[in-house]
Amino acid sequence: MTSVLVVEDDPIIRAALIEVLTAHGLVVRSSPDGFGALREITRWQPDAVVLDLGLPDLDGADALKMIRGLSQVPVVVATARDDDREIIRLLNAGADDYLVKPFSGGQLVARLAAVLRRCGAPPGLQGAPGAGDLGVSEPHGTPLVVGELRVDPNARTAHLAGRELGLTRREFDLLAFLAGNVGRVVSKRQLITEVWRQPYVDEQTVVVHLSCLRRKLGESASLPRYLHTVRGVGVKLVSPR
Ligand code: CA
Repeated sequence: MTSVLVVEDDPIIRAALIEVLTAHGLVVRSSPDGFGALREITRWQPDAVVLDLGLPDLDGADALKMIRGLSQVPVVVATARDDDREIIRLLNAGADDYLVKPFSGGQLVARLAAVLRRCGAPPGLQGAPGAGDLGVSEPHGTPLVVGELRVDPNARTAHLAGRELGLTRREFDLLAFLAGNVGRVVSKRQLITEVWRQPYVDEQTVVVHLSCLRRKLGESASLPRYLHTVRGVGVKLVSPR
């Protein structure tokens, strides 16, 4: 069974997280502080960690670095600030993914399922109810609309302002994944796992495909509209203002 350590000092939030994760069939332990979390990670070796960044004893990014000094366990951080610089700092400090508070139990389960899948952890959460239909990775079903961009996963077509984009299979998959994660910073590593689904693709391949996609969207890296590079981390798709 998949085990998860919840690190959260607020007892009400902690209880709610434990409840939702347990309901999805996970074995859960918790810690109200950072040093307790480090002890649990060493002793218990959970499959994943959910780390609140506002802890009483350690700064969130420091806690993350200390965890990385001990273990490569996947870590999903929960931050109160929806700010690119903060998120880049966390991803650089070793977070595998992040959630901005407030988030739903469903979002948490979906993020955990995605990081566990990327990290090749034992199955358990993937098939859990509610884990697959939350739009983290699988762009199936209804068309995704971002500004004037419309991506239809069933027809495998993408239109910008009514004009079909004529994407290759890989470009379409890339765009559909980004559209399914609109507004989120997605790392190149995440794209390799979720779009290419092969471990040995190098990041330059991703860069090249992003550049082709960008050209078909009629924009450039220096004048982005939909596809924004987040230096040192990856990209995000947004609706232009
Ligand atoms: Ca807190």
